Amino acid sequence: MFVFKFGGASVKSAGAVRNIVEILGRYPDDRIVVVVSAMGKTTNALERVVDHYSAGNRDGVEKEMDQLKAYHFKILDGLFSDKDHPAFLEVEGLFGELSGRLSREPTLNYDYDYDQIICYGELISTRLIGHYLNQSGVMTRWMDIRRSLKTDNSWREARVDWELSTRLVREHFTFSDGERILITQGFIASTINDQSTSLGREGSDYTAALLAFMLNAESVTIWKDVPGVLNADPKYFDDTVLLEKLSYLDAIELAYFGTSVIHPKTIKPLQNKNINLYVKSFVDPDAPGTLIGNIGYEKLTPSFIFKMDQVLIRTSPRDFSFISEDNLEEIFGILHAHGMRINLMQNSAVSFLMIVNNDRRKLRLVVDALEENYRVAYQTGLELVTIRYFDQSTIDRVMINKELILEQRGVQNIQLLVRDLG
Ligand code: ASP
Ligand code: MG
Repeated sequence: MFVFKFGGASVKSAGAVRNIVEILGRYPDDRIVVVVSAMGKTTNALERVVDHYSAGNRDGVEKEMDQLKAYHFKILDGLFSDKDHPAFLEVEGLFGELSGRLSREPTLNYDYDYDQIICYGELISTRLIGHYLNQSGVMTRWMDIRRSLKTDNSWREARVDWELSTRLVREHFTFSDGERILITQGFIASTINDQSTSLGREGSDYTAALLAFMLNAESVTIWKDVPGVLNADPKYFDDTVLLEKLSYLDAIELAYFGTSVIHPKTIKPLQNKNINLYVKSFVDPDAPGTLIGNIGYEKLTPSFIFKMDQVLIRTSPRDFSFISEDNLEEIFGILHAHGMRINLMQNSAVSFLMIVNNDRRKLRLVVDALEENYRVAYQTGLELVTIRYFDQSTIDRVMINKELILEQRGVQNIQLLVRDLG
């Protein structure tokens, strides 16, 4: 049994959805659990819906909803020539449910409301695609992952209840005779009280890994619009190289430092059971892509990870005392409370430095909270470059026209905080 994951880009249009049929057609004898994301940029749009909704901006909600509906119905129109096909009614029904929820007052809990709304992206995409697969002769059963994947109620970053979920997943994700494809949602889950939760943005990879782990799948394949895992983001780098094979550890490190191809939580469950992960191109399914697995070190290709729009926060105790464990506990507590992740940290005797993403809303709150007990200075507009398997030539390459603000060197990785000089 395999687990396949199709992300937003691989289901963003009628043509893309047709391509799934062609990919599944290559595995006529296999049983496959298909995990799907919301279509295209739907989750971003739903995030805007949540914002408008919680701000009481009904016009904003309506405008976004109209666009989302039009987008999905255009895909439906492209896929189903029979306009009485039940897919239309079901998608309409899901939009109706969502509108019903949006017509009620928001609760005071933004993150809770977010999860109750955001789940519709995946519910709609899987319904639609499930029907299309069946129409195309690929017998498919639609599964509501929320009946099986159970989490706590840490809205937007829910933590999986492994024991309960494993039991339910094994009970529900069984193939009956002749059944070949089960389609389900990535990214979303629910509490034991059946309130919807989500696993963090881009969490569908993680869902695929969880299901593979719980069902002891042979392998996971993530179908993407790139040829596999590259050693750098082509947006920031020319002459990127495809990494044909990666050890679990390399993949974890690259994902952790911010390679956008795989969600960081994805690798661990697979590593624990030695399940191979393939990252393959859905436009060129014959190409080998990248294999992530239990691989000895063959060739240590340097990888480059760029994080743009970084902020350096410098905190020092107001009384010029040294930075102590008490201070660190307090500082980390403040960042944790505001859900701000530290990309790099460094300390000296009298100050503690943190590099974070420039989320303006969170930054303001964090700086305000820190300023109660610390002197705080921060610098925006920086870039954080991580090089795995670095040497001097790779450092020189990224330092062209950059000013070095600070660096941190490990045995395998170096991180350079830089300012672009022009
Ligand atoms: N649709 C969700 C998102 O865009 C989950 C995913 O794509 O993995 O974050
Ligand atoms: Mg996505």
